[in-house]
Amino acid sequence: TATTTAAPNATAAIPVSVSVNVPAKTNLTLHVGHKRAEWGGRHELDTTYCALGVYDTITVATKAPGSGFSLDLTGAHLGNLASSGSDMRRNHAVLALFALAEECGREPDVSIRIDKRIPVAAGLAGGSADAAGTLLAVNTLWGLNWPVSRLARIAASLGADMPFCLTGGYAHGTGFGERIESLEPGCERERALRAAGWHGRALIGAYSAELSTPKVYARFDEIGAGDGDDNHLQRAAVDLHPRSGEAIAVARMAGASHAFVSGSGPSVVAFAPNAAVARRIAQDWSARRAVDRIIMTDAPAYPSIHVTQQTDV
Ligand code: ATP
Repeated sequence: TATTTAAPNATAAIPVSVSVNVPAKTNLTLHVGHKRAEWGGRHELDTTYCALGVYDTITVATKAPGSGFSLDLTGAHLGNLASSGSDMRRNHAVLALFALAEECGREPDVSIRIDKRIPVAAGLAGGSADAAGTLLAVNTLWGLNWPVSRLARIAASLGADMPFCLTGGYAHGTGFGERIESLEPGCERERALRAAGWHGRALIGAYSAELSTPKVYARFDEIGAGDGDDNHLQRAAVDLHPRSGEAIAVARMAGASHAFVSGSGPSVVAFAPNAAVARRIAQDWSARRAVDRIIMTDAPAYPSIHVTQQTDV
């Protein structure tokens, strides 16, 4: 076998297996609008997405016809996923496989392995990343070669963050977050984000505790957004998980250019203007026990596809 790396969507001659590294997401801004009954009670959003360089690896391979799917999960911090082994059908990666299989009229005879590094239920869209990674991987495994725009329609039916997770980088999201306009490298808005310090070294402060997104929205409905918060959910997340607020204060004192709750929390993201500030944030977070784990990343990040093909000997 030989391993090749290709851009999303590349066709390969009958791959043996396909692996996709898919990054976590955060929201540089997250403005929460009205609740919309026609969207199942979801809120209207206006958000700036940014992908962070901590990756789950999704590896898919073809199984014998009629044998169905299988799912293996590995990783040191599987959170509530570890206990839901019997409930594999609800894993977002499996939902994505089923949706794609239905759309193209194939049986979902595919093995999926997820090497999980993105913290679970942490505001980093790990589940959406795994679903997006599965769509990209199976698209190549089955030689469909569908464009990302077609995969994005399937992704949007499964979750608000999923279309963004297919492309990574920076994007402007509207609707309930599923309508994506990618901010291509070099465009004016992308350059403005970089100039404002939203790029380069980004530390994730992660917690063993999890926050459920619906609970955070319910608290937001009660107490609203904090004055001047770019992330409207931050006040609710900090109210439910006060250590996130402490980590933000510590990171700002240490010189972070931006420090905020990621999405619905409880994770905190801190952008550092240089290596010395990054080290200081990490040291102060540890010394004050403001977070449980620190993940050093770079932003923006992008998914990558690795194809293993059969070669004749
Ligand atoms: P959301 O994407 O809803 O904003 P989040 O980013 O905070 O959530 P996720 O890691 O996506 O957090 O997990 C949300 C829920 O989805 C978890 O409670 C988890 O049980 C479930 N889930 C299903 N499949 C996965 C998966 N492959 N990875 C992570 N979580 C998953």
